[in-house]
Amino acid sequence: MAKLLEGKLALVLGVANKWSLAYSIAQAFLREGATLALTYLGERQRAAIEELFKDQNLAALLPCDVTKDEDLAALAESLRGLGRPLDAVVHSVAFANREDLAQPFVETSREGFLLAQNVSAYSLVAVARATAPLMTQGGSLSTLTYLGSTRVVTNYNVMGVAKASLEAAMRYLASELGPRKIRVNAISAGPVKTASARAVKDFSSILDVVATRAPLRRNTDPAEVADTALFLASDLGRGVTGNILFVDAGMQILAF
Ligand code: NAP
Repeated sequence: MAKLLEGKLALVLGVANKWSLAYSIAQAFLREGATLALTYLGERQRAAIEELFKDQNLAALLPCDVTKDEDLAALAESLRGLGRPLDAVVHSVAFANREDLAQPFVETSREGFLLAQNVSAYSLVAVARATAPLMTQGGSLSTLTYLGSTRVVTNYNVMGVAKASLEAAMRYLASELGPRKIRVNAISAGPVKTASARAVKDFSSILDVVATRAPLRRNTDPAEVADTALFLASDLGRGVTGNILFVDAGMQILAF
């Protein structure tokens, strides 16, 4: 059977280390034959990614701070230089001040609120604007979200509001880019112990609740998130746009 992403060029933003959801997604994309470009934020992350992928062939490893329009413009230029259409993009980026993931939500500063929105939600719009022109044969843009967008999850706070904004942005982008055959979707992953997740106060208690209460009685495996990203990036997902796909062991259906 042909590999799912054979012949496709994909860009994944958000690999920080081997625990990153973007790392599992990148590995799934390589396994299924994608030509893969990654981004990094800062030289330390660049070195970490080079080490992680030292035995694999990356088409490009490019700097990108999603809050900087000049970085996004340079990223698009470098991808254009690869001389082929871009087929898939995965946006797996978020950030909020640690204190905003621990103190009462009402104490969120204007600055902290806007920072979370800028990095975690507006960046999807900026990434879409930079990369959609490269998807000349259509394509797929996927982002990562969490249930805290629509339900109150203790301490998720400012990031829950940013995820609500991200999901709405995803729908507007899906509507606008659909006529260009670009699909835009979000994957709502169950909690996974990553660097970002650890910034949420008492994160391990969220993992405990999921393991005991979720319909599948276990937590989410990053490989399951990666396989869903693969589905969306591949032709198997050709009819899916504007959607939120829950990969969370069923947790989102529970009321109590
Ligand atoms: P992660 O490994 O920490 O990934 C987050 C990535 O965002 C890191 O590579 C981080 O780089 C990057 N980033 C932060 N600010 C950036 C900026 N200004 N420009 C470019 N990149 C920036 O954590 P993760 O859990 O895999 O998170 C990936 C996505 O999944 C996020 O959107 C997150 O909200 C979402 N998600 C996670 C979970 C979970 O439980 N883990 C559940 C649902 C959804 P640095 O490390 O250098 O800051």
